[in-house]
Amino acid sequence: MAKAKQIQIGSIEKEKKSLGEREYPIKIGLEIHGYLDTEEKLFCMCRAKCPENIDWREEKDNTRICPICTGTPGSKPMLPNKKAVDNLIKIALVMGCNVNCGKELVWQRKHYDWADLPKGYQNTISGAHAVHPASNGKFHGIRITECHLEEDPAQWNPETGKINYNRSGSPLIEIVTEPDFYDSEMVVEWLKNLINSLSYIKAIKKNAGIKVDVNVSTHGERVEIKNINSIEKIRKAIEYEIVRQLENHEKGIVQKRETLAFDERLGKTIKMRDKEGQADYRFIPDPDLPVIVLNEKEVKKVEKELPEMPEVKLDKLSKKYKIDSDNAEILSRNLELVEFFEELSNEGVDVKKNLSWITVELLRVLNYNKKTLEDDDVDIKPKHLAELIKLVVSGKITPLKAKQVMNDFVPKSFSIKEKGDVVSIAKDAIENICKQVINDNLHVVDEFKSGKEQALNWLIGQVMRLSERRADYKTAKDCLIKLLKLT
Ligand SMILES: [Zn+2]
Repeated sequence: MAKAKQIQIGSIEKEKKSLGEREYPIKIGLEIHGYLDTEEKLFCMCRAKCPENIDWREEKDNTRICPICTGTPGSKPMLPNKKAVDNLIKIALVMGCNVNCGKELVWQRKHYDWADLPKGYQNTISGAHAVHPASNGKFHGIRITECHLEEDPAQWNPETGKINYNRSGSPLIEIVTEPDFYDSEMVVEWLKNLINSLSYIKAIKKNAGIKVDVNVSTHGERVEIKNINSIEKIRKAIEYEIVRQLENHEKGIVQKRETLAFDERLGKTIKMRDKEGQADYRFIPDPDLPVIVLNEKEVKKVEKELPEMPEVKLDKLSKKYKIDSDNAEILSRNLELVEFFEELSNEGVDVKKNLSWITVELLRVLNYNKKTLEDDDVDIKPKHLAELIKLVVSGKITPLKAKQVMNDFVPKSFSIKEKGDVVSIAKDAIENICKQVINDNLHVVDEFKSGKEQALNWLIGQVMRLSERRADYKTAKDCLIKLLKLT
């Protein structure tokens, strides 16, 4: 049997070259949904997030619900959550959008019939009749069509038929891009930048992730791959779909508009339904919700309070602080970390020379404790680390001792100057300890003399232990060798 011709990504590259960039037929657009970081849901006062003392994977179903977010007949929504609206403005500004101030933003009812939607409609500021809160942006070279708010549906388990309303009514941001991407790599890089920037403004829930609908078109109409929830799956889905469409095109099959799902187990996109048009959702304005009018003054105020974005920090790290690109990348991945670095510099530390105290040691103690600088209970002050580094630089304490002090910096750091017992001990004190270690461990000394190299390391370890790591390593080693020769 003749094998069907396989189109590989390499041949797409060839096609791209032969057509030239402008006529290149592959177009990819994204609709990104993110969970906004708010305490309460969008139209009721139920908690929008799982309590911190519970692992969200183990949270019991239907524990954060009320008549509003379960769509009980007769219940009416409360006023929209102000924090969600503020977060929308922040995101819109970071996306470079025009925020539509002074216009009436009308909540719509988007109707569809599915078990996860108790009201029979989803509230959203989008659809045929809506003025978008923000539009016409550009982020890292990709045009942004619009950003809007909507509520999350519940969670329906098709196997058990059970519905969990815990996330029903949680506020979501949706960011819609123009189809400006032309391969999976470009999408992946862009999404990483997006997630990093959104983490700087604390608008998105840290662990909730994103859900992305990906539109892909090649020679025919566009198809939509729904609800992909990780960057790696997005990459795989796009690569599979491009090859599938180009293969079909070669066979003369014309692509119609349709909606697909990505089955990760099979590594394939699978048809869900023919694409419904906007009319199918029967959008109507919601009479129970007030219109929102954004105020220009307020938007300007939010804009002023935005932190510097990752690309600005990266630029500063390389130009102002002369940090190499790998380390700059590590620092700029986290706003708290890069700000810690800048404050350390303000405390008079040569941050370039002492970089590893942050990128290696600080991250080591945080990782060991499974904490980040962002955590509410973590309070590590740059001035305390600055004191410690200065003591090491001036030779008053050993690097080993400083690292040991840092182990106790989580969750709260402290002033090392106020603790008198950390300064390195003098050479003759080290010599005394070495003598004591040799006298107490004559059998190990014999082992060393019979040629066992590691016996020396064990003895140095004992000196470190007895001196509470205040002995300088090299001094201790030299002193031990000298004494062992005399023994
Ligand atoms: Zn509720």
